[in-house]
Amino acid sequence: MDRTEIENLFRSISVWKRGHERAPHKPLLLLYALGRYSRGCDRMIAFADVDRDLRELLIEFGPFRRAYHPEYPFWHLQQDGIWEIEAVRDISVPPGKSPSRSVLLKYHAKGGFRAPIYEAVAIDPYLRASLAYILLEGHFPATLHDDILSAVGLDVAFTLSKRRRRDPEFRHRVLTAYEYRCAVCDYDVRLGNTHVGLEAAHIMWHQAGGPDTEANGLALCSLHHKLFDLGAFTLTERLVIVLSNQVYGNHRFDQYLLAFHGQSIRPPQDPGYVPEPMYIRWHRRQVFKGEERYIPQSAPAYGSSYAAEEDEKYHPE
Ligand SMILES: [Zn+2]
Repeated sequence: MDRTEIENLFRSISVWKRGHERAPHKPLLLLYALGRYSRGCDRMIAFADVDRDLRELLIEFGPFRRAYHPEYPFWHLQQDGIWEIEAVRDISVPPGKSPSRSVLLKYHAKGGFRAPIYEAVAIDPYLRASLAYILLEGHFPATLHDDILSAVGLDVAFTLSKRRRRDPEFRHRVLTAYEYRCAVCDYDVRLGNTHVGLEAAHIMWHQAGGPDTEANGLALCSLHHKLFDLGAFTLTERLVIVLSNQVYGNHRFDQYLLAFHGQSIRPPQDPGYVPEPMYIRWHRRQVFKGEERYIPQSAPAYGSSYAAEEDEKYHPE
């Protein structure tokens, strides 16, 4: 199997879809396996390891869910021509279904890349880097790439130079819409004539089909961009900043984040650039981590009951 064939398999993994819901399970499992192989680990990986480690990756980099299911990608990845499973007993389930976590543990299931793919990636760091790049570009915003790579223990720093810059126009248009200031904290530092540490964030990720338009963008400083992409805070449809109840820290946290909780973002210069509710809703459901932090009554009113209702609709169980 040559390099291009392997890259094409990784490019075309079928990711479970329901509307615009994020399903980063398969990409994270493949990145996890690549990380292990880069450290010389065996081809077949015990499900018990995947169950523990992939769960952590899903919690950190996946959308917030009441339950996490590492067994789904572990099983369903067999359909993509990359992955195979061995167990002490045959595990059979109806098509489209997956065995339970306890069955996989009980039968000591192991999974890994098919032998020809494993042999190619085990000896070729450039192929590992290229595959990691395909998975990251296809499923995660650039702010998270380095964190994911370090979480899976994959050292592919040299791929950085390969990263293409996506639509530089988007950056310019969004930063102009917000007059080159962070919409959260007003940060606007320049070094000479250059703006430093100011970025154009997608509200609905490009990887999820979010367009490169002002109404799907926010000008954010590097810190707030990263916190936004990790789901530490989100917005209401009225553009009020809402922190997750899972984010905390010392007095710097109060200063850099908590101070903005319950406040409105600094609006764009033109009402036509105001973030569209559908993109905000996507961010809230697919990126925001945990529950909303309580907003004291003195803070501006916002639609918190709306969010709770929407959340219920989205998780019918
Ligand atoms: Zn900021």
